[in-house]
Amino acid sequence: MNPHSFEQLSNDAKKLIVDYLDRIDDMKARERTKIPAQEMPAQDPEVRTHNLDEVTLGYTMEQARIEAMRCLLCVKKNCVEDCPVKIDIPRFINHIAHSEFQDAADVIKEASLLPAICGRVCPQETQCQSNCTVGRALKDVDKSVAIGRLERFIADWERSTGKISVPEIKPETGKKVAIVGSGPAGLVVAADCRREGHHVTIFEAFHKLGGVLRYGIPEFRLPNDIIDKEIDVLRAMGVEIKTNFVVGRTRKLTDLIEKDGYHAIFVGTGAGLPIFLGIEGESLVGVFSANEYLTRANLMRAFERDKADTPIYKSKNVAVLGGGNVAMDSARMAKRLGAENVYVVYRRTEVEMPARKEEVAHAKEEGINFYFLQNAKRILGDDKGRVKAMECLRYQLGEPDVSGRRRPIAIPNSEFLLDVDTVIVAVGNGSNPLISQTTPQLNVNRTGNIIVDDTQKTSLDRIFAGGDIVLGAATVILAMGEGRRAAAAINKMLAEEIEKEKTVMN
Ligand code: FAD
Ligand code: SF4
Repeated sequence: MNPHSFEQLSNDAKKLIVDYLDRIDDMKARERTKIPAQEMPAQDPEVRTHNLDEVTLGYTMEQARIEAMRCLLCVKKNCVEDCPVKIDIPRFINHIAHSEFQDAADVIKEASLLPAICGRVCPQETQCQSNCTVGRALKDVDKSVAIGRLERFIADWERSTGKISVPEIKPETGKKVAIVGSGPAGLVVAADCRREGHHVTIFEAFHKLGGVLRYGIPEFRLPNDIIDKEIDVLRAMGVEIKTNFVVGRTRKLTDLIEKDGYHAIFVGTGAGLPIFLGIEGESLVGVFSANEYLTRANLMRAFERDKADTPIYKSKNVAVLGGGNVAMDSARMAKRLGAENVYVVYRRTEVEMPARKEEVAHAKEEGINFYFLQNAKRILGDDKGRVKAMECLRYQLGEPDVSGRRRPIAIPNSEFLLDVDTVIVAVGNGSNPLISQTTPQLNVNRTGNIIVDDTQKTSLDRIFAGGDIVLGAATVILAMGEGRRAAAAINKMLAEEIEKEKTVMN
């Protein structure tokens, strides 16, 4: 049983909550800010490092209502201003406080198509929760109203009813839209364009849809059945899906328009090209890009050693290079795959780490070791070409660089050896070059990201782009926001064409 369930609370706590719930509309702001912030129940760290099940368990109904009552329903909605897709946050939260869960779900869906996903992986602490009035009043951003957890609660509640609504589709227009890539950006465009009655086809290089949601973010943070449910909605809407289809190789991008009759294309191919450090030893057996390591674990289930075609490397001591979410996911996955010691090696300090605070806290609980102000200098191999150690350098922080973070400076002669058999490089991803290489007329910038205007249109007619292929490695919600903007522009362009065609026919 969930240890935070209402039934397990002390009698005094139960009485207090019943009292709150009875007087919900009369509660003053001061009283609301005194309601304790609700902790997220989670699997015990000892247990969860031996399974791939989701770490966080979600709020109970009582917890969700209590947390919702902390919201002050502000007139100036800082949270909405800081939400990239502008969900009407106080409105959905007030519905939760009143147990009107379906109404809450409907409010969220006005702006966000993937609430179960965003509620789990969005960095709310730097977005909607960063300026929440409650967090500011309590001088602690961690005590802001837990908007993400409430969003997740509602999405999970709706899924548990088995009554997820399929959006209404307008009459067929005869126009065809191709979506290249099925990450969050592509999925949003598919839904928004299909709603307008256009025929929509998703072309995906892998055998499964979801992009990084599926092959990057591990199941212990985002279970696959949640992604499957979101994709089931697209199928029910009549979106056509073509997997194992690599645009640029199976078919050229422009052929989709010139030969296959698509009227618009959205390119959402993401940033899947791993970046390495360029140090000695990176081609040794036992060195992985985080992308390869996580894809093999998440998508190909390479940890099932007796079943997998290419079982994943068995590791004892693992070094993960980097300090972002990808590094945290790699380290925590390595632990679950049986590594005894996992070291996150990062050249700045914890303060500068880009990973979400919650992920870092979970990693620490799971016994991941953090080596700050250190970085790899070279990787050493044995006579069979396998990793046997990593030579590291110590660092100190200097003045801030262009990113605003203090620059790491190597300390001369500070070399030391770390005893590892596996190194996972998680220092960033670049844009996938296939589309731009096979479509030279498409304008890209110095780092290979597609250049778009403020409607997400590329330099080519009828071709739009968004998500990580435009922004560089970013976030799920930003990819969705770009998808939404692109879909609006595609729908506008096609609507104008349909109008023109009608005028000509009359
Ligand atoms: P992607 O999700 O990368 O999807 C692109 C899709 O296009 C892929 O399915 C790919 O196979 C397909 N594709 C590529 N080329 C072709 C082609 N030529 N033809 C057909 N298909 C093609 N963000 C957060 O907000 N929170 C997190 O906690 C978080 N954790 C992360 C953890 C990891 C390990 C990683 C790698 C990223 C994480 N991110 C996180 C970032 C986030 O997942 C991405 O910003 C987001 O998925 C980008 O979406 P997208 O639609 O642009 O591309
Ligand atoms: Fe509620 Fe915080 Fe938004 Fe105010 S800023 S409406 S307290 S979530």
